[in-house]
Amino acid sequence: MPISLTNTLTRRKEPFAPADPSRVTLYVCGPTVYNYPHIGNMRPPVVFDVLFRLLRHTYGESAVIYARNYTDIDDKIIAKAAAEGVAIEAVTEKFANVYKEDTGALGVLAPTLTPRATQNVDNMIALIQKLIDKGAAYAVPSGVYFSVAADPDYGKLSGRNQDELQAGARVEGEDDKRHPSDFALWKAAKPDEPSWEAPFGAGRPGWHIECSAMIEAELGSPIDIHGGGIDLVFPHHENEIAQSESAHDHPLARVWMHNGFLTMDATKMSKSLGNVITPRDLMEQGWQGETLRWALLSAHYKAPLDWNEDMMRQAQAALDRLYGAVLRLKDVKADDLEAPAAFVEALSDDLNTPAAMAELFALATAANVAKKPADQAKAKAELLAAGALMGVLADDPEHWFRASFGEQAAEIDALVVERVAARAAKNYAESDRIRDELATRGVEVMDGPSGSTWRRKG
Ligand code: AMP
Ligand code: ZN
Repeated sequence: MPISLTNTLTRRKEPFAPADPSRVTLYVCGPTVYNYPHIGNMRPPVVFDVLFRLLRHTYGESAVIYARNYTDIDDKIIAKAAAEGVAIEAVTEKFANVYKEDTGALGVLAPTLTPRATQNVDNMIALIQKLIDKGAAYAVPSGVYFSVAADPDYGKLSGRNQDELQAGARVEGEDDKRHPSDFALWKAAKPDEPSWEAPFGAGRPGWHIECSAMIEAELGSPIDIHGGGIDLVFPHHENEIAQSESAHDHPLARVWMHNGFLTMDATKMSKSLGNVITPRDLMEQGWQGETLRWALLSAHYKAPLDWNEDMMRQAQAALDRLYGAVLRLKDVKADDLEAPAAFVEALSDDLNTPAAMAELFALATAANVAKKPADQAKAKAELLAAGALMGVLADDPEHWFRASFGEQAAEIDALVVERVAARAAKNYAESDRIRDELATRGVEVMDGPSGSTWRRKG
């Protein structure tokens, strides 16, 4: 099924064709590991996880190479380590693990490669040296800067012109750069800061050069797709393009994709504004990882998404409906899993997750009404395969419903057992009473050939 993607570079939705279908390359800018990610920070890994799954489905699992980096050297990391009186590695190790855990809880697959900036400094130094040799960068006492004036293409991704670029480009400690919009490739060593030796003086890399160097080292350019949040278009991705394309005379990436922002009360969710909520907080409140994932995918990836409790409730109800259908067919052996064409088509259309969700509901309905064993086996297989491509329905359905009832689940189990006993003893008044009590707890009992199961009432 052909995939189409919106390319920020051309501002159009285009058919996607990898340079080499046996080696499809995807790079997404990863986190700066110094704190707990908020739910907005989960949008890029979740969105691009769906893309990763779709690419694997389309081109084959081993054909797709997905790299997502960890930025493990940066001002904020240095400040955090100093404030806590611990080594920088202690901070980055801890929060890289937090990120792994949080994304994992949201059903995000491990990328093929997870390079760390500090393990690629040699590649960054080589790239910076190449830019200096070509006259695209220059060294001054505060560091090495990219010379924007030397790059006629500069601004092509974000569509900014030179005048707009000049505004607001003043950065503290960079007074000796030649032009306000030049940006740091290398920051000269300071006491109490980590630094690496380099031909142009000891120092540490700037943020943008990290990604350019890691893309070259891990994937080789041009890559097929480069992704990230919309806030990264300028300056981060513009600068990645400037560096890599000035050094190599070929494109860095053929397709650029950007996800919209998560807001809260219509304001960007961000640490500095203080309106953040973390996936950990939400899971502690009892929301399940898949519920958060569904909520994050409930709008098209390019659209802004306003986070609120109602959205999580709707996400949970949607997943209940799907898990309910799987639970109903729990004794049916599914056919070989094959996601149906209409579902794959929806995702292939620029990752249209809302349309894909509508297809999942249609599959659940088909599973619910299927009567013949062959129809049931097919319906179950299609629902599970489509779920897998979306990264949901990974849980056992009984566990899904139990987990969302938290500590009440054991009491509900006991009531269901009592009801089975009452029915066996033909004490129908008691069994009805128990069913009513379960109903007031929002639980529906389903009696099947292999016993009684329960789920949340729809
Ligand atoms: P930051 O911690 O701001 O460097 O962001 C890390 C990643 O999360 C970047 O890819 C951002 O694009 C993304 N991001 C940050 N805040 C949000 C948000 N409110 N909504 C969506 N993505 C975000
Ligand atoms: Zn990057």
